[in-house]
Amino acid sequence: MIIGLKPRSSEEQVQEVAHTVRKFGYEPRIIRGVELTVIAAVGDERRHHTLETLTVFPQVDHVTAVQKRYKLVSRDFHKTDSTVHVGGVAVGPGHFHVIAGPCSVESERQTLEVARAVQAAGATLLRGGAFKPRTSPYDFSGLGRDGLRILRQARRETGVPIVTEVMSPEDVETVADYADMLQIGTRNAQNFALLHAAGQSRKPVFLKRGMSATVEEWLNAAEHIAAQGNSRIILCERGIRTFETSTRFTLDLNAVAVAKKETHLPVFVDPSHGVGRADLIVPLARAAVAVGADGLMVEVHPDPKKALSDGSQQVTPDRFSELMVALRPFVELMGREMG
Ligand code: PEP
Ligand code: MN
Repeated sequence: MIIGLKPRSSEEQVQEVAHTVRKFGYEPRIIRGVELTVIAAVGDERRHHTLETLTVFPQVDHVTAVQKRYKLVSRDFHKTDSTVHVGGVAVGPGHFHVIAGPCSVESERQTLEVARAVQAAGATLLRGGAFKPRTSPYDFSGLGRDGLRILRQARRETGVPIVTEVMSPEDVETVADYADMLQIGTRNAQNFALLHAAGQSRKPVFLKRGMSATVEEWLNAAEHIAAQGNSRIILCERGIRTFETSTRFTLDLNAVAVAKKETHLPVFVDPSHGVGRADLIVPLARAAVAVGADGLMVEVHPDPKKALSDGSQQVTPDRFSELMVALRPFVELMGREMG
């Protein structure tokens, strides 16, 4: 880190800061210019205390980090793309996987119907929410444990591994008993207790980006999971809050390109939540393939107008099938295999 001191700081003030830098485990190098003095704190910032608190000294003008705070998820740490195995499905380089299923598990019939249809269309992982984070407390909040049982049955019948959201640290063990991959949603993307519990579970984790999180915050959220010993993480861009009102969120494909450079972890795109409109899923799904995503998450419902959550963005099984056909040439062009 670089600590810039204010002009006319006394020698005593410079030494006071240098002493504190050393106390935090860095080697202070004092650089004296004509007007300004700068202290370079030499040491691995990812393993040491942040020095941002030094700004409380009246003689300190600014503190600038020169390294990112994440390490285990970074490409500096692991140069090549990682493969994450989810219930026998290899997610990573060379492949393109589509996770599909309803927003919410509503009934056995609805879930099984979707599971069979998306499998036939080429989806390799099944999604469905049993515990649903809802903006209003009066909205359908999922079937809970009954929903998990329905998902388990869908896997038994189709053999397709399942992905479902977990909302609190206390539920991690239960959800991990049923699911092949734990989903952490946008509203919990910086719930550190949940990230730690997911990190301890040893199940793969599907980490959505917080809707107002920077890429750095998103990667640091993944680092929280990895630092607990679990590096089986798939990142998912699902749209961010912007001034735009024509879509529910703004699907930030920039972030996918940046994340692919910064991290070795697989990166997915969820156009369903990203735009909130069924009619835009195909073009955005294609764009996701082209930008280098490793897969997609798409919401599918047998009858979207009757859906208990996210009806306007869910596609029918027929539309999903068409989407998969439309995607195939793009996936091949990117040198990947579907599934
Ligand atoms: C979901 O996948 O149904 C969901 C609630 O996603 P997000 O957390 O991205 O809103
Ligand atoms: Mn949803």
